[in-house]
Amino acid sequence: MASVKLQNVVKRYGSSEVITGLSLDITEGEFVVLLGPSGCGKSTLLRMIAGLEEISSGQIEIGGIVVNNVAARDRSVAMVFQNYALYPHMSVAQNMGFALKMRGTPPDEIDRRVNDAAEILGLSTYLDRRPKALSGGQRQRVAMGRAIVRNPKVFLFDEPLSNLDAKLRAKMRVEIEQLHRRLNATSVFVTHDQVEAMTMADRIVLMNDGIIQQAGTPTELYDEPANIFVAGFIGSPQMNFIEGEVYAESDGVAVRTKDGHVVPLGVAGIPAKQVVCGFRPESLDIVRDEKGLDEIIAIENLGHQAIIHCEGEIARLSALVDREQHADLKIGDCVSIKPKPGAVHCFHAETGERLSPTMTTGGEQ
Ligand code: ADP
Ligand code: MG
Repeated sequence: MASVKLQNVVKRYGSSEVITGLSLDITEGEFVVLLGPSGCGKSTLLRMIAGLEEISSGQIEIGGIVVNNVAARDRSVAMVFQNYALYPHMSVAQNMGFALKMRGTPPDEIDRRVNDAAEILGLSTYLDRRPKALSGGQRQRVAMGRAIVRNPKVFLFDEPLSNLDAKLRAKMRVEIEQLHRRLNATSVFVTHDQVEAMTMADRIVLMNDGIIQQAGTPTELYDEPANIFVAGFIGSPQMNFIEGEVYAESDGVAVRTKDGHVVPLGVAGIPAKQVVCGFRPESLDIVRDEKGLDEIIAIENLGHQAIIHCEGEIARLSALVDREQHADLKIGDCVSIKPKPGAVHCFHAETGERLSPTMTTGGEQ
């Protein structure tokens, strides 16, 4: 395994800059997920690490060695693609051993490595099959096997689970994570799916428009999103946002929306005037109240939980609640939605940056 260090990496296609001076340190053995919406530059960045794409400026180091001018095949990295890129006319074993064969590795050595990888991936009984006789999940494993046999220092994954159905995706998430631990490898995994990022990453690097918005553990991004973009991207159902002006009340601060509605925030102060307040759906409580101003417009049953969508006077809000406790709620019911104390996330209305509220200390005026 090896570390990967990106310093001020820029990628331009003609006049458009798709990666803008990006710096990132990935430590040995780390599982880093590059997350972001489609088109934000994830694949470009991964391909630059792999050496499949030139960098316009900046520096890339792998294992402490600058690789700017090192060819892809000499970088000790292996990439797994979304479409698997298997050769249809070759068997599983031939697909897995192909890169080694091209390098002139002796046949016994190829056999040994292919068998070892097949063992790890549960493919031993499929070695003679062609890819078309395999399921999607098995093809995905062959693509991983092809990477494993090369014994790379760094594994690069580009949306490898996107072609699988939801159930298999969930299973493969766990398998790839286990594989990463077992091989003691450094892994960089690209996805647009925040659930994959949250569940697999040691560290998430969330990008937008070729710029890192926040890098941190899944918990850090979830609990302390650095800006509105991160807050809205991480978490499902999405965070609810209310924009307004902060003003002081006797027991803390509240926000007043453009329409004059007031939402108490349960915190003592916020260091800005115009703010966007964010509430995670699970930090909203539903209070039964026939005179409540939030009308239920849709209920999504998730089994043990339900998402209650309300059209309120202030905003459209989604609350994630325990279904048992709210089994009697119906579309058209009026309720009051109340944020749990201290659950608010605050952002500067203009810059979108996170603001740290002063917490209520109890009895404070
Ligand atoms: P992602 O993987 O995050 O969806 P990409 O890295 O594939 O995004 O693309 C980032 C941006 O770079 C996109 O706007 C895309 O259109 C552009 N791009 C990618 N490859 C090329 C290319 N070969 N020529 C011109 N523009 C490209
Ligand atoms: Mg991509």
